[in-house]
Formats: sequence, structure tokens, C-alpha cells
Amino acid sequence: MDADIVCVGFGPATAGFLSTLSKQLVHADGTPAVESAVAPGLPPQVLCYERADDIGFGVSGVVTKARALRASIPDIDKAGIPMAAPVGEEKVLYLLDPVGASRRSAMLRLADGFIRACKWALPFEDEALNLPWTPSFLHKHGGMVLSMGQFMQWVGARVQNTGTVQIWPGTPVSQALIENRKVVGVRLLDQGVTKQGAPGEGFTPGMDIHAALTVVGDGPVGPVGQQLDDIFGMPENHHARDWAVGMKFVVDLPEDTPLKPGTVLHTFGYPEPEIFGFFYAHPDRVASLGIFVPSWLDSPVRTTYFYLQHWMTHPHLWRFLKGAKLRSWGAKTLGESGRRGEPHLAGDGYARIGEGSGSTNVLTGSGVDEAWATGAQLAEAVLELLKAKKPFTKENLEATYVQRRRASWVEQEARAAEKSRDGFQRGVFPGLIGMALAGLSGGRLVLPGRPLRPWERIPSLEDYFRGRIPPGEVRQIRDDCYARGVSAHAALLERAGWPAIPHDGQLLVSHQDALLLGGKVQAPPGYADHVAFVFPNQCQRCGTKLCVEVCSGQAITPGENGVPNFDREKCIHCGACLWNCASPSPENLERMAVAFRAGAGGLHSAEN
Ligand SMILES: Cc1cc2nc3c(=O)[nH]c(=O)nc-3n(C[C@H](O)[C@H](O)[C@H](O)COP(=O)(O)OP(=O)(O)OC[C@H]3O[C@@H](n4cnc5c(N)ncnc54)[C@H](O)[C@@H]3O)c2cc1C
Ligand code: SF4
Ligand code: SF4
Repeated sequence: MDADIVCVGFGPATAGFLSTLSKQLVHADGTPAVESAVAPGLPPQVLCYERADDIGFGVSGVVTKARALRASIPDIDKAGIPMAAPVGEEKVLYLLDPVGASRRSAMLRLADGFIRACKWALPFEDEALNLPWTPSFLHKHGGMVLSMGQFMQWVGARVQNTGTVQIWPGTPVSQALIENRKVVGVRLLDQGVTKQGAPGEGFTPGMDIHAALTVVGDGPVGPVGQQLDDIFGMPENHHARDWAVGMKFVVDLPEDTPLKPGTVLHTFGYPEPEIFGFFYAHPDRVASLGIFVPSWLDSPVRTTYFYLQHWMTHPHLWRFLKGAKLRSWGAKTLGESGRRGEPHLAGDGYARIGEGSGSTNVLTGSGVDEAWATGAQLAEAVLELLKAKKPFTKENLEATYVQRRRASWVEQEARAAEKSRDGFQRGVFPGLIGMALAGLSGGRLVLPGRPLRPWERIPSLEDYFRGRIPPGEVRQIRDDCYARGVSAHAALLERAGWPAIPHDGQLLVSHQDALLLGGKVQAPPGYADHVAFVFPNQCQRCGTKLCVEVCSGQAITPGENGVPNFDREKCIHCGACLWNCASPSPENLERMAVAFRAGAGGLHSAEN
């Protein structure tokens, strides 16, 4: 099939692209403002393929300054978007450890002791210090609290109502079509295949869509972005090594909640010092809350679900959450390399936008607005080229799209943020100081640190628990769990001092129950497994099985002969397995022994 423009993924970046483009493809009287090359007399044929089963099934807690959103949608504040609220009170809380189980450095313990000793003189309540002052770069004052799912559904309907673009959910793109180093379109995923990808009953090979321009907005772990990085490489000194798993609950707050819509709480310090948390209040007593577990938490048992439950039960947060009910949940990878993770933004026949193009600002913790902005910038560039009847060559896209991006606030702020988190490579304390320095100096002052590849950071289970659990017992616990086909993190962390979570059946539920309760997981048949263990001999030798321990859906479990099993029915498509592996790929040290490919299904919830 032939089109003029084909887009991969419908996240905020592509939404920004299509919102800007769709409005300008036809005149008010319906005649084309620019003409299609494949359907003469008509406006350009623009197609967008989204892998999730519907529009708005992505995951993101969203507080945003909404600068780019407002530039594209000036009436956004009055648009009546469900679950949207203007940002109200903003607080940053340092959470102390109420159970004594987290791993705190001597420096942090000293700080905790000081805070506890002076708590009568500090804004301290329920084991949390409300930072009396926070730097302006962390504020979202004047911005909005949104539900990504609700916003994307609203914006998707708006874009499709223009009649100039088509969005196809439930349609994963398997790869870019590349001829002589030029991207000439995309291939959709084969259907009617076995889990291993061999043709089966009702085999339908994925359709090829040829297009003059392929817009790649498939997010931080997208397979097309990975393919382009593998083929075209990264610019010098650029790499995507820093990541986080963001896991989020959407909850009904108790009837007497004191939290007003628009309230924004950010936390750090607990359950582990490296884990950041967010709590955003929507209208009608609904809240989005969750945590980020970063790749620089050097733990072989860095499980997000376990830590999220401990975070929710911290006394300072529990006073808002006691009596709350789970509505939906989800998890997703956040690309935390920022501008340093920026790939080649344009090449012959393609352009990259959004988080997969390094747009997320790691200093301000803002990704939606930046992703949208890069999409809108590409749309303006595309319109300029279409009007001038110029082809989508690397040179032309660099002169229009890349130049616009470089001249914008996105680039300016990304440069200030680029090295802001390097201090975390050396610990939480240096990390926080580095962020403050970079934020206050506009990126001129930073604490240096060398980002390691994810697999370089993972200690063995025995080393991680040394001093807390004897190595022999660590092995015994792991072997017992693996013999039962379950992950070992809960047993190990509980043995190391973490209390058991008191399940209440409505908010504090088991991981299994969350999979059933919170949004439903769907895995359409007829597709190949999108998670594959590509170097099984490495898995056999791997003692830490980080992929099993971290899996957000309990979809990866210990398997026979040391090679894990993958159960697609439980995969929520968080993408964490792409970077949570303890062993490098022998072919490319930036990748690991597990592959995360194009796939369908995942979580069904448009609230996330
Ligand atoms: C828990 C969490 C909380 C967050 N909180 C905030 C916040 O408060 N404020 C903020 O500004 N940002 C926040 N972010 C970051 C923000 O969500 C991202 O920066 C933003 O979503 C990036 O947009 P994107 O369009 O580039 O990519 P994505 O949102 O990742 O969208 C990419 C889309 O491509 C689709 N796709 C992937 N592969 C394929 C394929 N092969 N074929 C077809 N489609 C495909 C995906 O399904 C997805 O819909 C948060 C992220 C998480 C995970
Ligand atoms: S995928 Fe990586 S972490 Fe998982 S078993 Fe294999 S080598 Fe170990
Ligand atoms: S298997 Fe699915 S749920 Fe598990 S880590 Fe990978 S993407 Fe996430």
C-alpha cells in the first residue's frame, strides 16, 4: 500500500505531530492545501499505526506545564477533558524510612537522625519532611494535571474528526522498510503465526506501507526506534543507558479526602532512597500515584510492584490512601537519558520524535509537553517541505525539523538538563546535589558521573544481600522460589527486613489480583511472542535472573534449564525487560540477552 506519511505509535509526540498537521492539510472549503503524491487531487494520505488495542492505553501520570499543549490547543483549559485539573498546591516530600528496611548510606542516615532530632522545629509530619523550599525548575505552577489515557482519547477523536488522517489502533508495526539506507515505509506485524513466529493457521504476512516520510514516535522502547539505532548507530558519545520503570495506580480516594483537585505531591527517600514517587489529585476524588524505579538502583531485585506497595503504606501517604480503592494500574518504561540518548533525529525518509528521540527532560521530570513539542515542530517542517515540493531527505529534514527543534525551548532546557543526573551514578546524595547545581546554574555546574550500561550495574544476589542474609541462605531462597516457578524478590526482601503487606482486597492487593482487577491484560492470539531470550546459553549461566525479578506483570518466570518462560497473557508491555538483564548481548554491548520486539495487546485501560 502507498501513503504519503506513515507514523509509528500514537503517543503524545505523534499526537502533537498529527494535531498540527491535520489542521493545515486542507483549506476551509475542503480543497487540499497541499497535494498528495500517491493520490493526486487529494490532500496527503497520512496513516498512523498504534500497537495498543485502543487509543489512550499508554501509561503516564501527568503533571505538565502544558506549554506546547497550550500553543497547539489554546482553549485546552476550558475543553472539558475528563480528569484534567489546573495544578494547585505542589509539595516535595522527603520520606524517612518508618520500617528500617531500606538501604541508606551513612550520609543519609546522618541526615535522617538530624531531621528526627529537630522535627519539632521542621515541617515534619508522619515520617516525612515537607521541603520548605523547592527550586523553580521543579514547579509546574500554571500547568495541568491530566490522565494520559483520557487526554489521548480526547485528542485522538479531535485529530480524526478533521478527516485528514487515519489512526489504526491494534496494529503493531514490526519494522521500518529500509532500502540503500533510506527509510521507505513500514511493515506491519505478521498475523496467524505461532509464538515462535512460524506461519500457522490463518497466516497473514504483515502489510508493507510505502511512504515518502516515516515518522517514528514509538516511545522509549519502541522496536522501530531500536532498529534504526542498530542500523544507523547513535551520534558520537550518545547512548541510552539510563532508564526507569514507572508504575502507577489510579485510585478512588476516600470520601473525606482533604486533597483538592490539582494537588501535586512528589516524594523521594523511600522505599529506597533512589525511588521517586508522584501523587496527583484529579477531580471527583480520583488520584494517580506511583513510583519510578531507576536503572541506577543497583539492585538485582528491583521490583516495582513490591516497592509501590511499601511506598503507598508510608504513614504520610497512607493517611490519604486508607480507604482508597484501585481503579486501574499500569507500568511503562521511562527513557531517562534525555538529550544524551538522542539518536539521529532525521535521515533520508524518516524523522524521530518524542521520548525515543531523547526529548524527555530529566531535570524537570517532564516528558509529555516536550514529546508533543517535537511532534508539532516536525509537522511545521513537513508542511514547509510539502508546500515547497521538496523531498524528505536527511538534508531537508535537518534544515527544517532539526533546526526548529534546536532553536526551541525543548533544546535549550534539554541542554541544561543533559548532565544534571550524572551525580546519581555515584549515589543519591551526590545525585540530588548535582540536580540542584544543574537546575540553579542552567546546566553550567554539574557533578560528574559516568552512566554505566544497565548490565554493568547489577551485583549478584549474594553480594547485594551481603551483611543482611548469609550467601548460602540467599541461594537457598532463590532456588526454592525458582523451583516453584516464582520470582524470589518478595521472599528475599522480606527476609532482609521488609514487612509483609497487609492485603485489604481493594487497594493493597497481590500482584496477581492487580493483573485481574486493574485494567485487564489482553493478549490477542496469532502473534509471535514479543519478548524473546535470544542468547539462551547466557540465561542458563545467569544467577541473578533480573528479568524475572523485575517483570511488572509476572509474565517472565523461572523456566527449565535456567531459560526463563514468557507468558504473553500477563505482559503489560512496560518494556522493562529490554533493559533489565544482567548479561550483555555478545553482538552489541548496549543491548542485552533479551529482546523486546513489536507486539499487540497489553493493559486495557484508558485512565492511565
Ligand atoms: C508512570 C509514568 C509517569 C509519568 N509522569 C509524567 C508526568 O507527570 N509528566 C510528564 O510530562 N511526563 C511524565 N511521564 C513521561 C511521559 O509519559 C512520556 O515522556 C511521554 O509519554 C512520551 O511520549 P511519546 O509519544 O514520545 O512516547 P509514548 O508515550 O511512549 O508513546 C509511544 C506510542 O507508540 C506505541 N508503539 C510502540 N511501539 C509500537 C509499534 N511497534 N507499532 C505501533 N505502535 C507502537 C506505544 O504503544 C505508544 O502508544 C511519565 C511516564 C511514566 C511511565
Ligand atoms: S534474560 Fe538476562 S537477566 Fe534474564 S535470565 Fe537471561 S541473562 Fe539473566
Ligand atoms: S514481560 Fe511484559 S510486563 Fe514483563 S517486563 Fe517485559 S514488557 Fe514488562
